[in-house]
Amino acid sequence: MTSRTSGRRMSLNPLPRLFAGHYAEGVVEETVLETSSVRRIRIVSPTVKTLAYRPGQHVRIQINDPLSLYGLLRPGETLRSYTICNFSREEGAFELRIHLYPGEGIGLRWATSVSAGDPVVFWGPQGDFVTRPGPYHLFLGEESATLAFQPMIETLDDAAPVYALLESDHETDAIPIDGVSHLQRAFRCGASAVASQAMLDALSAMELPDRPGRAYIAGEARTCQLVRRHLINQRGWPRTAIKIKPFWAVGRRGLH
Ligand SMILES: Cc1cc2nc3c(=O)[nH]c(=O)nc-3n(C[C@H](O)[C@H](O)[C@H](O)COP(=O)(O)OP(=O)(O)OC[C@H]3O[C@@H](n4cnc5c(N)ncnc54)[C@H](O)[C@@H]3O)c2cc1C
Repeated sequence: MTSRTSGRRMSLNPLPRLFAGHYAEGVVEETVLETSSVRRIRIVSPTVKTLAYRPGQHVRIQINDPLSLYGLLRPGETLRSYTICNFSREEGAFELRIHLYPGEGIGLRWATSVSAGDPVVFWGPQGDFVTRPGPYHLFLGEESATLAFQPMIETLDDAAPVYALLESDHETDAIPIDGVSHLQRAFRCGASAVASQAMLDALSAMELPDRPGRAYIAGEARTCQLVRRHLINQRGWPRTAIKIKPFWAVGRRGLH
């Protein structure tokens, strides 16, 4: 956490008081490099015991204070969204699993450098990218999406089959996932994750039941749009059966 997060002048700036119910303070308890490109970060906070949460929701990690002068001048350099995993009200803890993508961003830098004992401020839980009952569930996305899908899949309480098409660069860096009855992988093999042809090719070849289920699409924004268009135009799915959540886009910072 940078010095911009702390040291607010509470008496001069009324914003922290106005937004006080929207964020909470915690401490990083543990970080684990799960694979060469996934870091799991466990955060403890007494406030967790009081929070409402639905699997699939995310927190916004405060890298720089959005209510400070710095944050007001550079709102795109303040908060970063990560899906909550292993939320435990009893333990007052939750975890984040973060894809260490090859690139540059304040979220990536935080995820790479944060360590046990560091203070953290988080906003949320928030968001409505959550599952709904249906005849079957279909999860579609790249690495960051795969990390978000796991808590959604773990807590599905209907017996409906779970299909997933998960993209990664190579087979060797495919992110493990549990609870999927029909799992397919797509590999970019060095190609861009933007408007991913590998994803579209694999989706075109994917065998699905002949009636629509419930689809959850996340990850790179243009690929998300193309995948949704495929389900609607090629497979005849109604828009209402599809939930879409663009996680990142080239030239955009800190989507939420
Ligand atoms: C609701 C929600 C939930 C999310 N949950 C997770 C999660 O659980 N785990 C997780 O790892 N990510 C998750 N993300 C994605 C994460 O918030 C973004 O990757 C975010 O942009 C990272 O911030 P940054 O500062 O590193 O990059 P930014 O400053 O936001 O982006 C800078 C540039 O980096 C590139 N970029 C950003 N993210 C990626 C990426 N993932 N892969 C490739 N290139 C990228 C883009 O070109 C972008 O323009 C989630 C996003 C949303 C909206």
